Amino acid sequence: MTRHRHGRFAVPVRDIVHRSGEMREVTLEIPTNEKWGEGLVSIPEGEQIVIDGRVESVHEGILVTATVDTRYEGVCGRCLTDIAEPLQVEIQELFAYPGEETSDFEVQDDHVDLETLVRDAIVLSLPFQPVCQPDCPGLDPNTGERLAETAGEEPREPLDPRWAALQDYTTDHDDDAPRPTAVSGTAENTEES
Ligand SMILES: [Zn+2]
Repeated sequence: MTRHRHGRFAVPVRDIVHRSGEMREVTLEIPTNEKWGEGLVSIPEGEQIVIDGRVESVHEGILVTATVDTRYEGVCGRCLTDIAEPLQVEIQELFAYPGEETSDFEVQDDHVDLETLVRDAIVLSLPFQPVCQPDCPGLDPNTGERLAETAGEEPREPLDPRWAALQDYTTDHDDDAPRPTAVSGTAENTEES
């Protein structure tokens, strides 16, 4: 093995290597040094990756168990509004001692490097079709404008004529009649003594 520099996500494990049963808490908070992910949403460069968990010495190597918290940014896949949401993923992976178990990850001398593990877990859990809200109505196919939030589901199936009639009625009704609930303030006023 050639000499390598420790990665930014390296966790030293010299104190627990080949000491089955020993474990240690690990907390890392490291900003990304580039964008993670290539989809509609991604982890921006400089976003904090917070890793909270433990490294545990087992017979075959070092078992890493952690919760990873970060935040993704991007656009809604339906209406292209900017969105930013927290993201949390759980990771558990065995870093095997070299030459023992076959594993995607190996203990390197005196440390385990969590970057690939953490990055892959986060990128795979980024939503493929992110939405600004679960019932985002998307864009009007004719005008390209963002549809009003009361428009509901995209009309994939022909509407039942009875529902269509009701929808017209309620829409017109809402538009025409101002809500008679605009009496706020009176409740507060009566509280004065
Ligand atoms: Zn949206």
